[in-house]
Amino acid sequence: MRGEKPAEGLRGRPRGWLAEAGDAVVSVFFPAGCRICERLLTRASRVPICEECFASFKALPRRICEVCGALLLAGFWGAQGGAEERLVCRLCADKTYAFERARSYAVYEGELVRAILLLKFEDMAPLGAWFAERLAEVVRREPEVLEADIVVPVPLHREREKERGYNQADLIARPLAKRLKLPHKAVLLMRTRPRPDKQVLSLEERWESVRGAFATRPGSQVDKLRVLLVDDVLTTGATLDACARALRTAGAKSVIGLTVARAIRNPMQGFGES
Ligand SMILES: [Zn+2]
Ligand SMILES: [Zn+2]
Repeated sequence: MRGEKPAEGLRGRPRGWLAEAGDAVVSVFFPAGCRICERLLTRASRVPICEECFASFKALPRRICEVCGALLLAGFWGAQGGAEERLVCRLCADKTYAFERARSYAVYEGELVRAILLLKFEDMAPLGAWFAERLAEVVRREPEVLEADIVVPVPLHREREKERGYNQADLIARPLAKRLKLPHKAVLLMRTRPRPDKQVLSLEERWESVRGAFATRPGSQVDKLRVLLVDDVLTTGATLDACARALRTAGAKSVIGLTVARAIRNPMQGFGES
């Protein structure tokens, strides 16, 4: 209190605590800009990503492998015979995976790659909740084949989680479980062997790095349960496969993999992301 009349306003005065507090409030609701393209955000939202970037995410088309959800590229699929014809990719025709089904929200490219990085390295829980809504929609499109009893995130190795402070798969799994009204079992599965330090892994190295790298925690209950296994990206399917094997060994009835993004397979190349 310095005897100034409030009517004089703030102009010309040194910026006091009130102005600073005001800026802080504004910056909470209107951060500097879209965290992907830096366009100015015009709408208050808890997720600092603009409408244009969200709209650029490319949802997977309907024509996917019935089992693993892969895009069916020409020359990489075949119809499986039987009472009713099924569209499956070559890998699933060979029964490659231990999971029953896998589905994803969108193609792993462009702005979605950046969004996944924000989730992975910046602990962006509201973005995880946004992705969870998309995955809940994916589940609701095929309720009969994607029905489950519990939701489990793909775990990080404990060293990695300690380093990062959180598990990005859990940022999606937790709100997804809530939406689907299913129990969320964050500590049911554990990664017993860390990912190799090498940044870029070949196709073979990816499968090798996760083989036997997961286990259920002693005393955890999965017997006869259908598990919805959640991760951020599906690249080769090796991680979901290794988790599914651990869960099936512990007695799980079935495992359905659900990821935000799906890398489009190029069988001639390795994969660069972690
Ligand atoms: Zn943007
Ligand atoms: Zn497939």
